[in-house]
Amino acid sequence: MEARKEIVFADNIEKDFIKNRDHILEVLKADLSDWNNWHWQLQNRIDSVELLQKIFDITELEAAEIKEVEQKYRWAVSPYFLALIDWKDKDCPIRKQVIPTLAELEDQDSLADPMAEKLTNPAGAITRRYPDRLIINLSNVCASFCRHCQRRRAIGQVDRHCSKKKVEESIDYIRKNEEIRDVLLTGGDPLTIENKRLEEILSSLREIEHVEIIRIGSRVPITMPQRITDKLISMLEKFHPLYINFQINHPKELSKSASKAILKLADAGIPLGNQAVLLKGINDNPHLMKALNQELLKVRVKPYYIFHAKRVIGTGHFRTSVDAGIEIMEYLRGYTSGMAIPQFIVNAPLGLGKTPINPQYIISRGPDYLVLRTWEGKVVKYKDR
Ligand SMILES: *Cc1c(COP(=O)(O)O)cnc(C)c1O
Repeated sequence: MEARKEIVFADNIEKDFIKNRDHILEVLKADLSDWNNWHWQLQNRIDSVELLQKIFDITELEAAEIKEVEQKYRWAVSPYFLALIDWKDKDCPIRKQVIPTLAELEDQDSLADPMAEKLTNPAGAITRRYPDRLIINLSNVCASFCRHCQRRRAIGQVDRHCSKKKVEESIDYIRKNEEIRDVLLTGGDPLTIENKRLEEILSSLREIEHVEIIRIGSRVPITMPQRITDKLISMLEKFHPLYINFQINHPKELSKSASKAILKLADAGIPLGNQAVLLKGINDNPHLMKALNQELLKVRVKPYYIFHAKRVIGTGHFRTSVDAGIEIMEYLRGYTSGMAIPQFIVNAPLGLGKTPINPQYIISRGPDYLVLRTWEGKVVKYKDR
């Protein structure tokens, strides 16, 4: 299929990446051993226009635009993720996800906290919205900040991991609430936390008998794959059943380094899932979404969710119609393996929860039958009971 050819990234992307990498190392006066060190990557996130100008050939207009947006919204990109940008391509999906544009300031129709997460915070850094599971926001730090971030209200201007006291309060709450069987660690990005501290947190959660599974939500394997060290792996392996869900939005994010990091996690027996966000101009295309989900399966990541972008302030330019998501789902079912099909989710306002949205396959109902439409559009009568 024509669309696939242009989507799946070829060897020349890897070549451009290496050229960018070497140039960035020169500008930052660093070497490959720095590059491969995640602490160096995190400490050297590119977060000033002056530095960006030394790396890419950016116009005065582009520079002015970023300078205006950064007054209001923080930006920072790991050297690794920056090297994946093709600056000549205005539509580069990596660039669109991490480099600020004026559109962020023009968004009048959105809220800081459309999910009302602040209202569903029973203790510590917890957001609880469901009977048997909850999330703990362990940090506001990310290796690269997404322009479409759903928690940009929490990102602020400086890096801050959740305090020991707040984590303790959160774990206490879980200890006292025996119905919690699934704890999801998120942020920011929990994998920006040092191994030792992360291990303490995971250990105290594992000591709670009713906590059956632990999940980590992270983009770090995509935005800073250097973090996935052997030491991290052997630490994480102690806490099975441990699941990790990524947010991968475009096949270009699955570079050689990212794929290697992901496979390491898979080899450690960690079930991996993907929670993509439907983003206008980045992945709101059925052909691309199909390719993305198929590429994910090749690196043993199961597509889990596609989220309709929430009404978060400063992200309106990424939002598609709900129909755009339904059209994608329509184009997946039947046309590719069920394994490659995530659930499309709309988040109900005010934190009322994840709501699945599917194309309509039931056309009508009789007293003891349904009229169904198949994936190919054939209409069939289906006897009920
Ligand atoms: C998304 C979310 C979860 C996890 O939901 P699943 O559908 O189980 O993946 C849990 N708690 C909160 C507050 C969430 O937003």
